[in-house]
Amino acid sequence: MSWFKREDNKIVNTEERTVRTEGLWTKCPSCGKAIFNADLEANQQVCPACGHHFKMGARERLALLLEPGYQLVDLELKSTDPLNFTDLKPYKKRLVDAQKKTGLNDAIVNALGNIGKHEVVISAMEYAFIGGSMGAVVGETIARAVDRSLETRRPLIIISASGGARMMEGIASLMQLAKISAGLARLDDAKVPYISVMTDPTTGGVTASFAMLGDLNIAEPGALIGFAGPRVIEQTIRQKLPEGFQRSEFLLQHGFLDAVVPRKEMKEYLERTLTWMVG
Ligand SMILES: [Zn+2]
Repeated sequence: MSWFKREDNKIVNTEERTVRTEGLWTKCPSCGKAIFNADLEANQQVCPACGHHFKMGARERLALLLEPGYQLVDLELKSTDPLNFTDLKPYKKRLVDAQKKTGLNDAIVNALGNIGKHEVVISAMEYAFIGGSMGAVVGETIARAVDRSLETRRPLIIISASGGARMMEGIASLMQLAKISAGLARLDDAKVPYISVMTDPTTGGVTASFAMLGDLNIAEPGALIGFAGPRVIEQTIRQKLPEGFQRSEFLLQHGFLDAVVPRKEMKEYLERTLTWMVG
């Protein structure tokens, strides 16, 4: 999925076009039904009619998975705009706008808490913050979550929701792939479990690094998961891609995922898996 679509030389945010929110109602992009926002919220942002999983904020997700009393950590880091980058507007302005919109410093939240009896370290990505893109702050925050897991031997869970690397930080962004992958290798050597939970969308540099490196790689239903987008692949291999290509269910069928787990069952699934992994 592309974040932006070019139309008459204007760049239009496709998210805003497909998920139309008019006051109290949200139109489901999958079945077209209008859903009362309070019903959507009560149903954990899943369409009651067709089961379409809407995107969910990082903090809402942590609240859903962790027992009460968990602690948010590593929230203080902020991007310094290392390249002094400007595209349609200055990156500094994008950051300030995203900070105001989400109340977060960047596209990630770390937390320490429990899933059932299991103490875990969780890192959850925030798609509403510049498409969940991974710059130096996201990378460093995830690296700190890995370090916390290593120090405490608590299992690590990373919930991805990201368009990939953050182009406004160039190579500083790409370096995060290597940094986090190296940290996860240390975690693997120490035999501390890491579960990767992919949500819609998990693409680009995030898929190419930590999202696919879990001891267990699982995803929510219908999530777009891939590296390059389908149009780029079709043009490269000069073939039409099959139906459902790059969606969770297709990836499970072809051996790229271990399970597709509906949002309602995710907490219980993680609890059961942790019991199986660490006892
Ligand atoms: Zn629906």
